[in-house]
Amino acid sequence: MARKRIIAGNWKMNMTPSQAAELCATLKDLVVNDNVDVVYCVPAIDIVPVAQAVKDTNVQVGAQNLYIEDKGAYTGEISAPMLVDAGVKYVIIGHSERREYFGETDEFLNKKVKKAFEAGLTPILCCGESLELRERNAYIDWIRLQIRADLDGITADQVKKRVIAYEPIWAIGTGKTATADQAQEVCKIIRDTIAEMYDDATAQEVRIQYGGSMNAGNAAELLSKPDIDGGLIGGASLKPDFGQIVNA
Ligand code: PEP
Repeated sequence: MARKRIIAGNWKMNMTPSQAAELCATLKDLVVNDNVDVVYCVPAIDIVPVAQAVKDTNVQVGAQNLYIEDKGAYTGEISAPMLVDAGVKYVIIGHSERREYFGETDEFLNKKVKKAFEAGLTPILCCGESLELRERNAYIDWIRLQIRADLDGITADQVKKRVIAYEPIWAIGTGKTATADQAQEVCKIIRDTIAEMYDDATAQEVRIQYGGSMNAGNAAELLSKPDIDGGLIGGASLKPDFGQIVNA
């Protein structure tokens, strides 16, 4: 089956609310493409202005995090119902920066994935290996373990809807992109792992993105690979180049 492509920008901790609205205006005409789902995953404080700025366009709003409870005494956190009410459709879960700087474990991320589904949000689940794991050829086992742990207890119907982003840590923000063959190898391993856990039909529906220094120059080659259905874009999502990636 043909999977619709999905290009998501991860703005990380960039853009004040007024800068966010300006960026949406700059990108507006550049990201029009009916064959692609376009998502801006923005800082929490930018969600409301961005949702307003992209109203009546093809762009959907994503968040970069959520908490596992719906409300209560969790100072500083943001809940799934809050995101939904603000117009959010997607949420990044398990980005390597959150795993590394905020100590998020697979067990905790699995709870976040479940919470996202419960609220009707589509998780963009990130996985990826360090340079050390790649160099000692342990990356395939690592990716399989991450996928199995993060999907524990998720139904086939839920898995079909989710997006998985393969983001080798050594390629994030470094300007060092995985080659298209390296990215394809791991994206296929992710799909094969899902086929083992569920079945082939389920695996064929899951959309898998590559992320890690994707830009206007390398996007077309990466996106030409059979198991790469889109991209999660950091640095280049803050520039007009993002439009070129959407249309690559
Ligand atoms: C990311 O952090 O999700 C990412 C892919 O970043 P960059 O494109 O800047 O490498």
